[in-house]
Amino acid sequence: MIQQELNKPIFRLLGEVADQMQMPCFLIGGYVRDLLLERQTKDIDVVVKGSGVLFAEQVAKRLGKGASLAVFKTFGTAQVKKGDLELEFVGARKESYNLNSRNPQVEEGTIEDDQNRRDFTINALAIGLNSETWGTLSDPFDGRRDLENKVIRTPLDPNITFSDDPLRMLRAIRFASQLGFFIETKTFAAITANKERINIITKERILTELNKIMLSPKPSIGFLLLEKSGLLELILPELNALKGIEQKNGFGHKDNFVHTLKVLDKIATQTDDLWLRWAALLHDVGKARTKQWLDKQGWTFRNHDFVGAKMIPHIFRRMKLPMGEPMKFVRKMVELHMRPIVLSEDVVTDSAVRRLLFDAGNDIDSLMLLCEADITSSNKEKVERFLNNFQTVRQKLKTIEEKDRIRNFQPPISGEEIMQIFSLPPCALVGEIKMAIKDAILDGKIPNERDAAYDFMMQNFKKE
Ligand code: ATP
Ligand code: MG
Repeated sequence: MIQQELNKPIFRLLGEVADQMQMPCFLIGGYVRDLLLERQTKDIDVVVKGSGVLFAEQVAKRLGKGASLAVFKTFGTAQVKKGDLELEFVGARKESYNLNSRNPQVEEGTIEDDQNRRDFTINALAIGLNSETWGTLSDPFDGRRDLENKVIRTPLDPNITFSDDPLRMLRAIRFASQLGFFIETKTFAAITANKERINIITKERILTELNKIMLSPKPSIGFLLLEKSGLLELILPELNALKGIEQKNGFGHKDNFVHTLKVLDKIATQTDDLWLRWAALLHDVGKARTKQWLDKQGWTFRNHDFVGAKMIPHIFRRMKLPMGEPMKFVRKMVELHMRPIVLSEDVVTDSAVRRLLFDAGNDIDSLMLLCEADITSSNKEKVERFLNNFQTVRQKLKTIEEKDRIRNFQPPISGEEIMQIFSLPPCALVGEIKMAIKDAILDGKIPNERDAAYDFMMQNFKKE
């Protein structure tokens, strides 16, 4: 497999440059790991003994027209791009850390030094590209065996590895989630022991890893590990607060953390949309604050949809998640996630469907996916009943949308027209009239058409 991969022209070229410059040169890191796992990867990591930047300059020159070179002086790395090709070059280095920062002191080192500073054994594998090392696998920490056994383990003492750079704790959990690997016991214990060190990592870097967990095939793997290590409480306490079951008079409620992860895994089988997955993760986030035992009803979580929706901007701001469309989308999903369920429990009326379409707009399909994923009961009959009801809701949504086009509702008569017709200045009454027209349409009293809206308006509001 390695020999076949190395036949690609880019690797021949790297080998020639390495020989010409007389610099030991190896493929390393994620690229080698993913090659051995037969996973697709784009960015090619290369380590050389000597200056990675000088090496990259030569490679860019040899690639010729269309190749671009970017040098990151502070890190001593360089990136070369051409078309689909993306290469990262680094000069082999030795690192030493101090306690307050994840930015190490760096000095030149050997290829072995560079393998020692890598985070996991599976990321320290290297393949030689010089003619005397061509195609040979350098594997000082038995990373190949860990790949086969699906194990994540640090090359050196994990306590030092994680304390040096606590981002690695999240990387470990992210790889476990992405690849479906196990974190070796000692390595995991060191994550738990060093969890507080996560505080020196920037929000942006934490988020990059969280999003990779979110987008993995079964994101619950990552979140369960975050919870078990104690990191979840530090990163996303609102989710951590959903854990557990309280008993009262022999009645327990479901564990909302476990339920949330089921919903997340279910939605992950349906969509790769990062924000819909975030909506699934946070859909019940209001439940911890709204939990209440009522003598007649048992455990209740009244208004957890609205309370949860209100929490979303705070969570997004704190975590440096994007505050624009993604935040608004997630907030809307959280706020509306009970609506189709409530709707499907009752007789499904046209006006309720119209209102749902109006509130969800173009996100109605995402909302329906979320609601279907939200049914995690183990009672087969109940699940069947819910899913059937959802089919009715979906059918109704379709016929009503075809008829009334509510999805992207535009007021059939604008505020300006209303002001003109009634000779009004901008005032509250204009809004009231618009609202009355909207309500009449959503309630099915009049069709979503201009003439009908005009007649309705003239009948209900008189010119002074
Ligand atoms: P992916 O590209 O899928 O995110 P990756 O392992 O390739 O995963 P990169 O960030 O591209 O991750 O890093 C490339 C390589 O650099 C890694 O495989 C690893 O060897 C090394 N590396 C990256 N980050 C760290 C770190 N925080 N500590 C030690 N080594 C690291
Ligand atoms: Mg990579």
